[in-house]
Amino acid sequence: MEWDTRLIHEGQDTDPLTGAVNVPVYLSTTFRQSSPGVSKGFVYSRTGNPTRAALERILAKLESGAGALAFGSGLAAISALFMSYPAGSRIVAGDDLYHGSTRLLDVARTHGVKVDFVDTTRLATIRRSFTEGASVNLLYLETPTNPLLKITDLRGAIAIAHRGRARVAVDNTFASPVLQRPLELGADVVVHSTTKYIGGHSDVLGGALVARSRSVLERLRWFQNTSGGVPSPFDSYLMIRGIRTLGVRVRQHAENAARIARFLNGHPRIARTLYPGLPRHPGHATARRQMDLYGGMVSAEVVGGRNAAMRVARRLQLFTLGESLGGVESLVNHPATMTHRDLPAAERKQKGISDGLLRFSVGIEDAEDLIDDLRQALS
Ligand SMILES: *Cc1c(COP(=O)(O)O)cnc(C)c1O
Repeated sequence: MEWDTRLIHEGQDTDPLTGAVNVPVYLSTTFRQSSPGVSKGFVYSRTGNPTRAALERILAKLESGAGALAFGSGLAAISALFMSYPAGSRIVAGDDLYHGSTRLLDVARTHGVKVDFVDTTRLATIRRSFTEGASVNLLYLETPTNPLLKITDLRGAIAIAHRGRARVAVDNTFASPVLQRPLELGADVVVHSTTKYIGGHSDVLGGALVARSRSVLERLRWFQNTSGGVPSPFDSYLMIRGIRTLGVRVRQHAENAARIARFLNGHPRIARTLYPGLPRHPGHATARRQMDLYGGMVSAEVVGGRNAAMRVARRLQLFTLGESLGGVESLVNHPATMTHRDLPAAERKQKGISDGLLRFSVGIEDAEDLIDDLRQALS
């Protein structure tokens, strides 16, 4: 089956009891047992709930995994993943991760996990971190990254990690499974903030872990149940509803983003446009190999720095000034004062997040209207 068919039909049979075409929302925390210890597969809703189970079945199929685990937020999913590494483990992670993931790895350090942040866009750097120091248990990657849209060569990075007997987890939030499927490239675990493209309407927080093997899945399931950060049945339903339109949305996001990147790239008041679809982008060739399209996120540096960027952000009408991404509506974010404000200025500068940088989550409005809005805000 092709993508758009799978998104609507896979794992979503009509309800056998009533014929309902939508997965029912099962608001029950406990389930009757026919005899002590004998259930129909559901016992208590933290451990398992039929609506959440439907979402997990669908996510597993979209990412080609043995199974999936749904969580109440992306960070709840990532917490459970990191929690599964005991004191004494070593995690090598990208140095341009979602800031909340970096914070969680700092917490892991306080629990005795050794963590090294490296530039994963260079395979030589990953290789060096595997040959120097203690053996590595987990390589944790994000591609494309936030907000600089850096690209890591997944096949290359996975080969290095597997040679070193480490597992690989990839945060696939920015691409979505429509554009990139890391498990098919050999990764062991895929991470999602389903709050973003999978939910798609800026109305539900959620997260997921998808595992390639049964054994990794079952180990992570133990941590899902133990840490308890599961989504409600209604939130699970909203995520399923989002998935049904994921294909058409993501393709439109990517088409609009490509047009906006080209517009910004040629604009005299933009110093630098970051979009993996631009041939000049350092990760373009890799992105072309491992992604079907280049996604809906575009970052750009405004000439004139901080004040100029803030002025553009304030003047935009269709792009709402706000954090988050992946919803149908366009958003603009000024990382230096918003999502990345926690980072000390020197660290932001060293990472390449300049004060003039704006990050656009390009929505699915008409692209000409979005370009007109950017034109007036930049004038
Ligand atoms: C938003 C985001 C997260 C965290 O997810 P929440 O749902 O906000 O907890 C993790 N990774 C990436 C890439 C994100 O964009």
